[in-house]
Amino acid sequence: MGDPRRLLVVVSAPSGAGKTSLCQEVVRRIPGLAHSVSYTTRPSRAHEVGGRDYHFVDEATFQRMVRAGDFAEWASVHGHHYGTSRLLLETHFGAGQDVILDIDTQGAAQLRRTYPDGVFVFLLPPSWEVLEERLRSRQSDAPDEIERRLRTAREEMKRYGDYTYVIINDVLERAVTDLSAIIVAERHRSFRLNSRVRDQLGI
Ligand code: 5GP
Repeated sequence: MGDPRRLLVVVSAPSGAGKTSLCQEVVRRIPGLAHSVSYTTRPSRAHEVGGRDYHFVDEATFQRMVRAGDFAEWASVHGHHYGTSRLLLETHFGAGQDVILDIDTQGAAQLRRTYPDGVFVFLLPPSWEVLEERLRSRQSDAPDEIERRLRTAREEMKRYGDYTYVIINDVLERAVTDLSAIIVAERHRSFRLNSRVRDQLGI
C-alpha cells in the first residue's frame, strides 16, 4: 500500500485523447513526480524505446509476473496485456517521489481498491471528431486497429463518472495547467502533512 502521504495519480483516457503527452509534460514540470513505466506484451512502435516508454516483454514473461503477484494492477487492452509493477511503484514511493500512471479504466478500478487515497483523473477529447483525427494521423496503427481503438474509446469514455476529476484536452497547455493544479492541491491534503513538519511543530 505504500506510504499514505505519497501521492498516486492515475490518468485514464481513450487512446488518442493525448494522455501520453500530457503525462510527460506534467512530469517534466512538477518536481518529485515520476512516471512509472508499465510492462506490456504489445510490440513496440517505431519511435518507442524499451525501458522508457514500456518494458516490452513476451507473453510467457508477463504471465510469470502475474502468477508471482508482481503487478499492482494489470489488464488486457486491445488484445495485449499491460501491467504496473508493484516493485517499480514502491521504489518511487520509497525514494520520496509521487507517481503518475497512464493506465486504462480496468487497471484504474483495481487501484481504486488498493490505493483509496490515490487521485483518479479522466481525460476526455474535446470531440469525437478530434479523437478520430488524432488516431488516424498517428499512422502507427493499422486501420482495423484504429477501428478497434475507437470502439474501446466509446466504452471507456462512459466511465468518466468513476473518476474524481475530469480534464478536457482541447489545448495541451491548458490541460497541463489543469492537471498540475490538481496535483499541487492534492499534495496539500491535510493527511499528507509530512511527519517531520508535524514533529517540528509538535502538532
Ligand atoms: P498504448 O498501446 O496505446 O500505449 O496503450 C493502450 C492502453 O493501455 C492505454 O489506454 C494505456 O493507458 C493503457 N495502459 C498502458 N499501460 C498500462 C498499465 O500498466 N496497466 C493498464 N491497466 N493499462 C495500461
